[in-house]
Amino acid sequence: MSDKIYEYKDEHDWFIGRWRGSNTITELGEVSAKAYLALSQELAALLNTADLSGDGQAGFSVTVIRNRSDFRLIAFIVDMIASETARQLKVSQKQGAVVITEGDRLLSVHLPEKGVLVSDFFEKEEKTSLADTILIATRNEGKTKEFRQMFAKLGLTVENLNQYPDLPEIEETGLTFEENARLKAETISQLTGKMVLADDSGLKVDVLGGLPGVWSARFSGPDATDQSNNAKLLHELAMVLDPKARSAQFHTTLVVAAPQRDSLVVEADWSGYIGTEAKGEAGFGYDPLFLVGETGRTAAELSAEEKNAISHRGQAVKKLMEVFPAWQNEQ
Ligand code: IMP
Repeated sequence: MSDKIYEYKDEHDWFIGRWRGSNTITELGEVSAKAYLALSQELAALLNTADLSGDGQAGFSVTVIRNRSDFRLIAFIVDMIASETARQLKVSQKQGAVVITEGDRLLSVHLPEKGVLVSDFFEKEEKTSLADTILIATRNEGKTKEFRQMFAKLGLTVENLNQYPDLPEIEETGLTFEENARLKAETISQLTGKMVLADDSGLKVDVLGGLPGVWSARFSGPDATDQSNNAKLLHELAMVLDPKARSAQFHTTLVVAAPQRDSLVVEADWSGYIGTEAKGEAGFGYDPLFLVGETGRTAAELSAEEKNAISHRGQAVKKLMEVFPAWQNEQ
């Protein structure tokens, strides 16, 4: 039995768990666990599917402070069970259903209230290859890796543009992040017939009216480098002496496009301030100048994991994971 306290928190879901209970899920302020009774029983059954549940006495005790997604709550509890019992449990989503597996064994399928279409759930091979592959509109392997980790949880195979060397370069001519992300996702989807995800990110500095914005990559000119962009930004803000007046946000818009569908759009901001000197070695772009919230640390002083957990891109990807299964199902 461990004393560890588990927590998951984002703007829609917030759970706290301990491994000292009898498999209960309670809502903060609610005395009865009735609303979550069926779910707690479903998950408690996992502890009996193998003789690996530790001392047989402990179980999860979870308090829900806010909850929008069954998937998040189930993933939270299953991760807790896996970590307390050293089991290889995995949670993924398939056509809106939450699927729990252990190695090559399917242990449980949690269905949404309205169920899912049988034909979608047991889809045929050809359909699977379109619905279960997503092409990321980038040639950057680092970016692809981040998305691959996220989409693997949904059972999707991730490709990138390096696998399509003949595709033309799509010019980012839009005046907004959404226009640019749509342009890339929708054009490549039309050309390939695939489901495509494109992103557009940048830095918005309040006192500069949102600049460099969609021009972040080329802020200091056509041959811009991260260093020259940062130098230009410091120059532009040289007369802004009040640290609070140097507020800024990193922004990401993600667009998923597929043939004959309305595209899915999500976006997220990460707030902070522009420092007066570059600090930190990690990250890229404007990270060495971006002071994260009120922490006094720059984004370049965070590890990749720390940054992904809170960054604009990390937040946008989390939001996408929440709405993507329903979008995929809906059409
Ligand atoms: P992209 O749309 O992701 O290629 O980003 C465009 C530009 O915005 C990059 O070249 C960077 O200058 C800046 N940028 C976007 N995200 C970040 C970040 O996480 N850290 C630092 N700079 C970023």
